[in-house]
Amino acid sequence: MPITADARLALTEFLLGCEDIVACAQYGLDWLEEHAGINRALCAVSVSGDPHLWGVAGIGISAARTGAFEIDSLRGRDQLSKVVRTGQAAWFGPGRSRPETPLGSRPFHAIPVRSGRQRPSPGLLLVEGNHGRPDRVLTWFARLFGAKLTRMRSRHAATDRGLDRERRLLFSVINAVSDPILLTDAQGKLLMGNTRAEQLLAWSGDTSEGRRHALELNNLHFSSALGSVAVDSGVGAREVILVDPEDGSDLLFELLSTPLEAERGQSAFVSVLRNVTDLGRAAREIEDNYKRLRAAEAQARAERRRLEQMIDSVVDPIIVSDAAGKILMTNRPAEALFTSADHDPQALRRARANVARFSSIVGLLMSGTADRVRERLTLTDPHSERAVPVEAVAVSVPAGRSELTAVVTVLHDLTEALERERLYAELKLASSQLEDRVSIATTELATQNELLRRQAVALEHASAAKSRFLASISHEFRTPLNAILGYTWMLLQNMGGGMNPEHRRMVGKIDSNSRNLAALINNVLDISRIEADQIVVELSTFAVEPLVREVLDELETVVVSSSVPVQCEMNGDLPPLRSDRQKVKQVLVNLLSNAVKFTTAGTIRIEASLDSERGPWRIAVQDTGIGIAEGDRERIFEAFEQAGPAGTVSAGTGLGLAICRRLARLLGGDVQVGSTVGTGSTFVLTLPVEPQMLIAPEVTAARAFASAGVSNQGAES
Ligand code: ADP
Repeated sequence: MPITADARLALTEFLLGCEDIVACAQYGLDWLEEHAGINRALCAVSVSGDPHLWGVAGIGISAARTGAFEIDSLRGRDQLSKVVRTGQAAWFGPGRSRPETPLGSRPFHAIPVRSGRQRPSPGLLLVEGNHGRPDRVLTWFARLFGAKLTRMRSRHAATDRGLDRERRLLFSVINAVSDPILLTDAQGKLLMGNTRAEQLLAWSGDTSEGRRHALELNNLHFSSALGSVAVDSGVGAREVILVDPEDGSDLLFELLSTPLEAERGQSAFVSVLRNVTDLGRAAREIEDNYKRLRAAEAQARAERRRLEQMIDSVVDPIIVSDAAGKILMTNRPAEALFTSADHDPQALRRARANVARFSSIVGLLMSGTADRVRERLTLTDPHSERAVPVEAVAVSVPAGRSELTAVVTVLHDLTEALERERLYAELKLASSQLEDRVSIATTELATQNELLRRQAVALEHASAAKSRFLASISHEFRTPLNAILGYTWMLLQNMGGGMNPEHRRMVGKIDSNSRNLAALINNVLDISRIEADQIVVELSTFAVEPLVREVLDELETVVVSSSVPVQCEMNGDLPPLRSDRQKVKQVLVNLLSNAVKFTTAGTIRIEASLDSERGPWRIAVQDTGIGIAEGDRERIFEAFEQAGPAGTVSAGTGLGLAICRRLARLLGGDVQVGSTVGTGSTFVLTLPVEPQMLIAPEVTAARAFASAGVSNQGAES
């Protein structure tokens, strides 16, 4: 579309009325954008005769890039410098070697801005364009702006040069700052910024899609943060998170904004974004560390409490002190020794004395090379004044580099141990005294034993001599006695002729007394045999019932004359008995003859039984006789003892039961009695089933009779 004359006129009027070269240049480029459809262009000018041309206005190009554009018209060797020097326009199309410009990679025209044939040109116009020849409007604009530029150069040459330098310097300074610095309008739109600010917030036409999104997001965040600063106070600091368009990482900035004075009714802000990403990370780390520290402190406090409870629960006093012996911590038992809660000055003095004694232990630890000291000392209970002997074990607790920081001391109360030691010493003394006494007693005992042994030997010799004497005397007695009995028997059989009744009675007395004497002699003979170890046990197996019948037969005369019936109760299933038949018979004859002797009415019963397979055998002789008083029941088993009051003597020798019991015991059994005076007595002979376990056959057992009595039946065993 052709440009109207009015438009050209408006541009011309503006240029005529405007004395600011930058504003003129920007207006001109904006005019070209509006009327010539140009989207990207840059205008560089040299003011005040400076050979350098600087970018002063641009469209489609950031202010920072525009400001950074420079051409050295004197010394520059590049193509654009050549355009400026020669005043010849040039087109840099695609694929050709082209100078670097803020316009990027697109084709562009480089048109000198000058008045007439002026060289080098005071200005240069870079305008994007796809064709080799520039549009006529561009040429017209370059000429118009060249004339204006030439006029202004001559007028403001001196002033503009200084300002320009300052401006360049200012750009250099703010570009050197690594933090983004930017000038925005009140809505946050970027008007000017340093290189870092443009990296984060500004984009150009060839920006990639992803990068563009990041920049849009940054603008959004920045505008929002700036808005809140503006609402709050106009000046202040806010945190704002932006995205690094290069790698997408989050960057934390502190936004410091200062409002500028309104220019032409428009407010603006100068903002500095201070990168506090690392600061934020460090702050978070510090916060985390602080929390960890607090947790560790709480844990340490809890552990200390636990430790205190633990050492309080220990019965022994525990003290933690510093290297100088100053007490830092104690448990309760130690507190009782080293402090005094009441205000008794004496108790306090004793507690201090304890501390002094304790400090000497720590001193020992300090002076020595060992890291442990074990010492005994005596403290005083401050309250009871009781002496407390203790063993102190002190251990140093080094804290690196071998310096001593703490000493832990445990006091073991030795009161009981010392008491035990004392008792042990006493016991040891008593023991050694006892040993001496035992030794003396042993010697005495040995002497006594030797004496006894000699007496025993002498006694044995005497006993043997007595036995030999009795045996020979008995034998000597029996021979004439048997002759007397033989003759009395013949007289009583009327073999010597008839006798009158008186003679018969007297001969009968001779006969019965002789028999008693013979029995007595037999018993005495038995005693002598027993005491001379001449009793021999002969085991055999025999039936009990025939044995009992044999006993009854032997005593038939006595039984018949007594007129007391004797009943015999035998169990037919009884097994045979293994024992010494002759001695069992001797015992039974004795028991039965006693029963007959002491029973005048009633019955006499003999019973044999076997309790179980394992025995024992029981053969009981039960009578209904006079009975035996309780006090006599054991006495009658002793030799020459009879029942009844002392001094009373019944017929007999008092030896029968003594021999019965000894014989029974010799066979592994016994004889016991149960009795009621006036009702009767029961004598029970018990015998083992396995006598061989107790008495081996053919064994002489006279030793068992050493203190026993003798038989009243005079068995010739
Ligand atoms: P002895 O009969 O020859 O005197 P024993 O030793 O046989 O000697 O008896 C001692 C005493 O025991 C007897 O004197 C008698 O007093 C008493 N005694 C023995 N058996 C009986 C009995 N069955 N009943 C009452 N007393 C008895």
